[in-house]
Amino acid sequence: MIQKPKGTYDVFGEYGKKVKELEKIMNALMEKYNYEYIRTPHFEASELFHRGVGETTDIVSKETYDFIDRGDRNMTLRPEGTAGVVRSYIENKMYGEAINPRKLWYYGPMYRYERPQSGRFREFYQFGVEVFGTNNPMMDAEVISIPVNFYKLLGLKGIKVNINTLGDKESRDAYRNALLEYFKPHLDTLCEDCKERYSKNPLRILDCKVDANKDIMKNAPKIIDYLNDESKSHFESVKKYLSVLGIEYVVNPKLVRGLDYYTHTVFEVEANVEGFGSQNVLCGGGRYDHLVEMVGGPSTPGVGFAMGLERLMTALDYENINLVEHDHVDCYIVPMNTNDYSFALMQDLRLNGFSVDMDYMNRKVSNNFKQADRLKARFIIIIGEDEVNSNILTVKDNHTKEEFKVNTLDIIDFLDEKLEDCGCEEE
Ligand code: ATP
Ligand code: MG
Repeated sequence: MIQKPKGTYDVFGEYGKKVKELEKIMNALMEKYNYEYIRTPHFEASELFHRGVGETTDIVSKETYDFIDRGDRNMTLRPEGTAGVVRSYIENKMYGEAINPRKLWYYGPMYRYERPQSGRFREFYQFGVEVFGTNNPMMDAEVISIPVNFYKLLGLKGIKVNINTLGDKESRDAYRNALLEYFKPHLDTLCEDCKERYSKNPLRILDCKVDANKDIMKNAPKIIDYLNDESKSHFESVKKYLSVLGIEYVVNPKLVRGLDYYTHTVFEVEANVEGFGSQNVLCGGGRYDHLVEMVGGPSTPGVGFAMGLERLMTALDYENINLVEHDHVDCYIVPMNTNDYSFALMQDLRLNGFSVDMDYMNRKVSNNFKQADRLKARFIIIIGEDEVNSNILTVKDNHTKEEFKVNTLDIIDFLDEKLEDCGCEEE
């Protein structure tokens, strides 16, 4: 038997319904926020990720799926969404258009060659946004509000918003130097990864899970002491706007995030539920005012986030949240030697907005009633030769068990009315 690749999973059944429902809620949310949908290719030139994500990040140094295509080009399956969206923003000259800020959202699969475990897959889905063209701290707060509101809409309770600032380039450089000086005499006490981080990206030493509890980490310099006035004031405004939106947060000075490109605000939302597991970061993001330039476009500020769908699904399960409401069909058609007529009626009803299924198996009547129950059919339409000849359909209400005779010409009005009465019509 050929099995699915390690770190991947199949979606079907109840899980599939839940995913579809989640996608609907996501779509509706992005409509309300007035964000524009963007889709970019699932693979890009490898160089894009080297420039756009950063050579020293775990993602690029250890986790990419690289391949050489038949034309000898170096390609990479996208490990994250931002680089592709930035490329598209530049390539399609969106910076030159009148719409500003440009607020984009995406949803799709990402690929990382990681050690598979709970909450960590090799193919996983991310929902994210990227906003270009404004450095207004209001936008940092808006971007943070999107996942927070999404989780709220879903009814998720145990979440915690962590924020921090890395400051602008000047502040970040000053902090970087302070860290280099601070860690220099203690280098041999740090883990191997941290030794490498020291030379490549010292901020990420703070992110280390191995050394996290050592005193040397706890006493490390704090970014807040290295921020210049502009960076301080940006961060103060972000915090104020979060309060204006009624969003609770915690300032976590050790939050630096794995990517090189962040400036100013960084944030993560974690599932704050005991026993959830170590992969508890549901989403992360921040401001990246130099990224567009780094990828080759004009200097343009940006801010965004990305959330993993798998961890969210686990969190929903954890809190026993059931999203699937429209788990039924409006009509189930039972043809009794009237396949042509029944099949045509199903087509007609579907085109008029009803969800319809029928018997394809020539079941006996009693088995058809069982099947209608399994499909949670609201109405059962039984069509024998009499019905075809008279054009009067027998419609059974599967909730009240009442039976109606309905003229074919009136069936749509009849179903409309009944489904509206019971309040179970789909939006
Ligand atoms: P982590 O520290 O957990 O590795 P990360 O910093 O690599 O996360 P990001 O690149 O910021 O994660 O991605 C944003 C979100 O995407 C994460 O918060 C998580 O929900 C999700 N995510 C990242 N990697 C995976 C993965 N391998 N499998 C499932 N979800 C993932
Ligand atoms: Mg990771």
